[in-house]
Amino acid sequence: MTGNMRLPITKSNALLLFAWLSCLSLSSFAQQGAGKKPGYPALTDHPVNVILMIGDGMGLAQISSALYANYNQLNLEQFPVVGFHKSYAHNELVTDSAAGATAFACGKKTYNAAIGVDKDSVPCKTILEESMERGLAAGLIVTSTIVHATPAAFAAHSFSREFYEEIASDMAETQPDLMIGGGKMYFDRRESDDRDIVGELRSKGYTVEDYASSEITDFKWNANKKLIYFTADKQPLSVSAGRDYLALASRLGPHFLEKRSEKGFFLMIEGSQIDWACHANDGKLAIKETLDFNRAIGEVIKYAKENQNTLVVVTADHETGGMALMPGSKAGNVQTAFTTNNHTASLVPVFAFGPGSELFSGIFENTEIYHKIRWALGFGVPSAQTSLSTSSSSAANPDKIPQGGSN
Ligand SMILES: [Zn+2]
Repeated sequence: MTGNMRLPITKSNALLLFAWLSCLSLSSFAQQGAGKKPGYPALTDHPVNVILMIGDGMGLAQISSALYANYNQLNLEQFPVVGFHKSYAHNELVTDSAAGATAFACGKKTYNAAIGVDKDSVPCKTILEESMERGLAAGLIVTSTIVHATPAAFAAHSFSREFYEEIASDMAETQPDLMIGGGKMYFDRRESDDRDIVGELRSKGYTVEDYASSEITDFKWNANKKLIYFTADKQPLSVSAGRDYLALASRLGPHFLEKRSEKGFFLMIEGSQIDWACHANDGKLAIKETLDFNRAIGEVIKYAKENQNTLVVVTADHETGGMALMPGSKAGNVQTAFTTNNHTASLVPVFAFGPGSELFSGIFENTEIYHKIRWALGFGVPSAQTSLSTSSSSAANPDKIPQGGSN
């Protein structure tokens, strides 16, 4: 043989090279995203309220299959502005819901499993926390537990998404005006301590209700008090198993929050279980969950049309399943297939309606969702205030690395 030093292109060499290139490019992408000051246009009309709706795992195929299964009609068609975000995490091209939601909540690329903390596990002030500091009301409505990754990233700070009880403690400190979701057991039957956080929240002035004692419409939504409604002890049911509160909560939530502050509100609503259906490669359930989220979008868009001071942004944290619509699909009967039971790194669509919606066209980093919402609300250019100094979190706790999946 000659002295040709060319490395043989074996599969493992190619993978190594790809991994090395991925690391290089991701760190430089992240640097570009992290320090970027938004050069946004002056808005003629700023929203008073922002409703951010996250369909967990809802990529273009999930939207398309729900659209055609629903005979070519979705509420998303009412949104005049459409863009795409790049969902990748700080250190991996494929993100999880924790890093994805932290990007929206804090404007920072972080590592998978991080809850409201940056890549160095330092807590970052979230858009929900800043909104409350500025006198706005704030709420979270989800179809997972309320301590699950997406809602947690807006109202808690944790080294890892798996610390549900610590996240519950953090949320009881943050005290959003409205919380609806499952996970009551992490508040009142805790393994790590004897605290009864349900009782604590009552003594702090919350109305606390749950699925066992009342339906969501059975009690008075007294806007003089903060409200938490637990929809399950642990995870809420799937929509196929009878869960039906998301659209109702999405109708009542904005009306409740508008009474909590005349300065406006920030509300995050998540269709949490689109992701779980896609992890299970269950196309029919994914369509049902997406159509359930579509009903919630319908309620919110109705509110935004009646209250033209409200910006609505609908997006996903990432796509799940590498879903596709297959040949043989018909309107009302869509055939789906999946390439993975995990998340993928496809670009994620963003839909916007209302004052400030023009900021959301084009292709941008997922962290820009945070910056654009702040800009729309008139909070100004980010500065040091996006870093938290409080220590009421489990963020710097690297000796407790949990095991487990990434939903
Ligand atoms: Zn997932």
